[in-house]
Amino acid sequence: MSLLDRMIIGVLPVIPRPIVGAFSRRYIAGLTLEDALREVRALKQAGCRATLDILGESIRSREEAIPARDAYLTLLDDIHAAGVEVNVSLKPTQFGLTFDRAFATDNIRAVVARARERGGFVRIDMEDASTTDATLEVYRTLRREFSNLGVVLQAALRRTTADAVALAATQTNVRLCKGIYIEPYRISWRDREIIRQNYLHLLEILLRGGSYVGIATHDEYLVWGAMRLIQDLGLPPEKYEFQMLLGVTPRLREVVVASGHPMRVYVPFGKQWYAYSSRRLRENPGMAGMIAKDVLGLSPDRRRR
Ligand SMILES: Cc1cc2nc3c(=O)[nH]c(=O)nc-3n(C[C@H](O)[C@H](O)[C@H](O)COP(=O)(O)OP(=O)(O)OC[C@H]3O[C@@H](n4cnc5c(N)ncnc54)[C@H](O)[C@@H]3O)c2cc1C
Repeated sequence: MSLLDRMIIGVLPVIPRPIVGAFSRRYIAGLTLEDALREVRALKQAGCRATLDILGESIRSREEAIPARDAYLTLLDDIHAAGVEVNVSLKPTQFGLTFDRAFATDNIRAVVARARERGGFVRIDMEDASTTDATLEVYRTLRREFSNLGVVLQAALRRTTADAVALAATQTNVRLCKGIYIEPYRISWRDREIIRQNYLHLLEILLRGGSYVGIATHDEYLVWGAMRLIQDLGLPPEKYEFQMLLGVTPRLREVVVASGHPMRVYVPFGKQWYAYSSRRLRENPGMAGMIAKDVLGLSPDRRRR
């Protein structure tokens, strides 16, 4: 962790809300669905698909999970009515995963069923490693009932090769990312180069196994490696898509789109932006450094979405 990163983490609790808001503005579509739809339409003009995420924190009671589920049901109806592609990502802890797995499964089932009615797709995001087994179990349970459902694997975790092999055997729909959470050394690779090599290794397992892969990264080395693999395997664009977060490396995103590869952008929106932004900053100090560089005008992607 660099000195700048450490300084940012140290002062985070006392950074005024408007400043955290300024950090996050380009990474979050806004507070309302209208803000998110505006972003989705602009991305479409730029040749990109989108997945919508309603910002929310891990919740601790049934009373909090039900409104989170209902917000997603309404979102699916609204984006269908707005005539944009119905594609959402959700965090299983928002649906009660940490305290009642069966209850969370039922809540997510309701969302996936509604998405199917609307011709849409649901991606279950992957959270910290304490939830990996439960998330994969929810996914496997619901995948037996629905085909419009995908999950996420994290290349930083030591366990993921086994998970990728198991999932590849079922020719599933997987988003592959490095993993945002700082996990114990015992279960997680730390070395950046190992995580990169592991990412490409996992990507190959999934693509060769016939899975549809969302290649979620802004790391140019991985984008290059993925393009090379896609070419070597002779894969058509129906078998994969690149994925990036809103506001992150838009210049690289444009290069990927211009090369003719499908691209989906993750578009978070909603009122809980503060918790999301500060949690992200705290969880990944490296990201804090990147954002600080951006705010200080030291990033080449400044002022672009
Ligand atoms: C579409 C999508 C969905 C994701 N879903 C999940 C998930 O479900 N679970 C999970 O654990 N993680 C998820 N992630 C996050 C992912 O795990 C990584 O933490 C994140 O993408 C950074 O890794 P990287 O591969 O982009 O490489 P890095 O080496 O971290 O980043 C490469 C370059 O991208 C830029 N960059 C990356 N992130 C940021 C940022 N936030 N702000 C500014 N610049 C940045 C920097 O210039 C950096 O040098 C997702 C990422 C994407 C793109």
